[in-house]
Amino acid sequence: MVSRITHLASGACLHPEFVTRRGGSFNSVVFPARVTVIEHPREGIVLFDTGYANHFFEATRRFPEKLYALTTPVKLSPGQSAVDQLKSLGITPSDVRWIVCSHFHGDHIAGLRDFPEAKFAFYEEEYRSFKSYGRIGRLRHGYLQALLPDDFVSRAHSISTEQFLEADHGIAPFNRTHDLFGDGSIVLAPLPGHTRGQIGALVRSSGRDQFLVGDASWSSLAIEKNIPPHPLAYLIMDKGRDYLNSLERLHLLHQNRGDSLEIIPCHCGKKHAGDVFDV
Ligand SMILES: [Zn+2]
Repeated sequence: MVSRITHLASGACLHPEFVTRRGGSFNSVVFPARVTVIEHPREGIVLFDTGYANHFFEATRRFPEKLYALTTPVKLSPGQSAVDQLKSLGITPSDVRWIVCSHFHGDHIAGLRDFPEAKFAFYEEEYRSFKSYGRIGRLRHGYLQALLPDDFVSRAHSISTEQFLEADHGIAPFNRTHDLFGDGSIVLAPLPGHTRGQIGALVRSSGRDQFLVGDASWSSLAIEKNIPPHPLAYLIMDKGRDYLNSLERLHLLHQNRGDSLEIIPCHCGKKHAGDVFDV
């Protein structure tokens, strides 16, 4: 069990709501980039994703990468990056020992360079997919090579498909999981579709269990009602069919355990337990 879970927002992006949820409005909606700060009694500080950071603006200063910043307007106020907010909570960059990367999109890994001591946990399939593209292919898929620290490989904790084992952690139908520290406190599960190797994390604390699901959905509402996104959203996805399958399984999980488990999409604008920001 972890000691504490806190959610920060390290910046936000703007999208028309209808793209992220069928039936949504044409208005631009603010989507926070959640960073989850997990305090583990033995392992120390663990982050799930990093949100935006100034490295994002550096990585998208020139074409063709600039197209990413032009098509996804980003808001990041001074002092709002994860590293700055953690300092104000008394957590130094080197206190962060682990970063679980749900997937490698720019809004999830832009802060990796700010944490020099952290190991990076991720699904091998995600890194393989990231490396399989050339510069333009990466950009089309929302990946920015410059965001990976120069020593990324030596700090990588890559989890292979074989390391996701058949096990019951109470999140059926997600039965193939990887128990990150072997104590059941942080349990990872593949959530393919949005990207090829996206993973979510079940986190257990003294409060309600939380299942952090990255971009498997943009809102809790879409999971609760099993509402697919607009067809436009499929343009950036790895596989629409896998996305819908992951969403369907999250919907089933919500139906099974909605009272005892909170499912938290990274960009959900609804208030969740442990959020210390306002949307
Ligand atoms: Zn994403």
